[in-house]
Amino acid sequence: MIPKDHPRYESLVTREKIVEGVKLGVTALQGLIAHGRGEAFDYILGERSNDFALKAEKVATAMLLLAKHPVISVNGNTAVLVPESIKELAELVKAKIEVNVFHFSRERVAKIAQYLSQFGIEALCNCDAELKGLSSARRIVDSRGILIADVVLVPLEDGDRCEILKKHGKKVIAIDLNPLSRTAKMADVTIVDNIKRAIPRMVDFAKEMKDLRRDELESIVKDYDNKAILKDAIDGIIAYLENIKKVL
Ligand code: ATP
Ligand code: MG
Repeated sequence: MIPKDHPRYESLVTREKIVEGVKLGVTALQGLIAHGRGEAFDYILGERSNDFALKAEKVATAMLLLAKHPVISVNGNTAVLVPESIKELAELVKAKIEVNVFHFSRERVAKIAQYLSQFGIEALCNCDAELKGLSSARRIVDSRGILIADVVLVPLEDGDRCEILKKHGKKVIAIDLNPLSRTAKMADVTIVDNIKRAIPRMVDFAKEMKDLRRDELESIVKDYDNKAILKDAIDGIIAYLENIKKVL
């Protein structure tokens, strides 16, 4: 048991969730490493949703609301960290949820889908189609989901699939605490925030925006500049570290 008054209580509870996910066969062992990298970036971002994250979260939610076939792609880390808010977001923006993993086996995909079903999520996981041009297992998709999607939300994505999704004409929204990653640079919208904060914020934005007219949503998306957001994220890290240095 992690004592509630531990100064890093939340972070430790999150680690336990990921470890539990590995034990259940839902999260890949490599997911532990990816999580550790995320934690390191979260630390130097101040473990909060900064303005550049909130801006991207709002635009991303508007894009999902505008989409014809929005899909939320879920891997092993996402499944154990934010199942409830993924479900809520999907309902609000009328998106499908699809299981898509880098470390692929049919058994693991089925385990993730089964895990999600406990939360009332019916995830697509037919693995009956391929994204041409991609050699990793991320190419294996569902013909009712990512294959025909126009906007895909890909939390904790790897850069190469992001690139291929774009080549297939899809708009890609990434959630990645590392503003320097290939994914971050490749996505149309990069949310530099912890998925644990990002998805619940998007749920709030979706509640606020779900009844807006299309032209109102379009005006939210229109002038978005992802490069500027990534620069703001890097400036945000620098400013946060400078501040910490001052008060040491
Ligand atoms: P690239 O995009 O350059 O190909 P990578 O493939 O090496 O990067 P992965 O090892 O696939 O990156 O890790 C996925 C990314 O997810 C990491 O950059 C990490 O910072 C990020 N990440 C991990 N946990 C979280 C989290 N809880 N919230 C948001 N991002 C996270
Ligand atoms: Mg990768």
